[in-house]
Amino acid sequence: MLPVRILVLGGTAEARALAAALDNAGVDFESSLAGRVSRPRLPVGLVRIGGFGGAAGLASHLRDTGVTHLVDATHPFAATMSAHAVDAGRATGIPVLRLARPGWGSRPDAAAWHWEPTLDAMRATAETLGERPFISSGRQTLPAFAPWSDRDVTVRVVEPLDNPAPPRWTVLEDRGPYRLDGELALLRDHRIDVLLTKDSGGSYTSAKLDAAAHLGIPVVVLSRPSTLPGAAEVSSVDACVEQLLAGATGH
Ligand code: NAP
Repeated sequence: MLPVRILVLGGTAEARALAAALDNAGVDFESSLAGRVSRPRLPVGLVRIGGFGGAAGLASHLRDTGVTHLVDATHPFAATMSAHAVDAGRATGIPVLRLARPGWGSRPDAAAWHWEPTLDAMRATAETLGERPFISSGRQTLPAFAPWSDRDVTVRVVEPLDNPAPPRWTVLEDRGPYRLDGELALLRDHRIDVLLTKDSGGSYTSAKLDAAAHLGIPVVVLSRPSTLPGAAEVSSVDACVEQLLAGATGH
């Protein structure tokens, strides 16, 4: 077998599942986290934390640490990191495999959602649909909703906000996985009449969509950034492991 050393760009449940599978298979690997979350859920195995210093920094890291395969298992909306992975792969000749969970677009209720390409478009659409929004699109998206400082907005974030939210906003700190009963209670208790989300996909945070469907609450969805050419893509951890092990054994 050829010597293999895999770097997994993580920060997702899939990346943690991949780390567990690689650990189980006895493969040499390391996971990388951005360091955004103060108490991150850590994958099994070796973990490094912090940015690389752009695509060039990542390329140096790959060379310096003898990485043979790079897996980009970052969140579907971590577009900068994914672009850097492709660029670093090109610069070093190291193959890049993208592990991206499927989006929610194939759900039966997704056809009725309001799909938008930008945060500004989400805000404009949501204003036509309701007056008490629930923003679940992440801390980094909140500046786009600053014009709603005079509204009763409910926001859910994993990490505390850096700056205080407007007085009329309710900020909930929590992290998935979420369950339907809790999401129904949240939407009812805060009298939510429009839900805003990214098309994150997966089951960790999808209960809010079931709850919105149950209560007839309209949903505004931020579409995914377009995928970049230059990385092979798989949508499941099993397929990712299969490809990596096939590459490792030269099959
Ligand atoms: P981003 O905007 O695509 O990346 C910004 C910078 O953060 C990158 O240029 C890189 O810094 C650093 N970075 C990102 N992911 C990294 C990783 N896994 N290891 C080392 N450095 C990393 O990323 P983001 O959207 O802020 O997401 C940051 C992390 O949170 C990612 O690991 C992602 O999987 C996770 N996450 C993101 C979301 C989301 O909605 N965006 C949701 C859940 C989890 P350098 O240029 O210095 O290398």
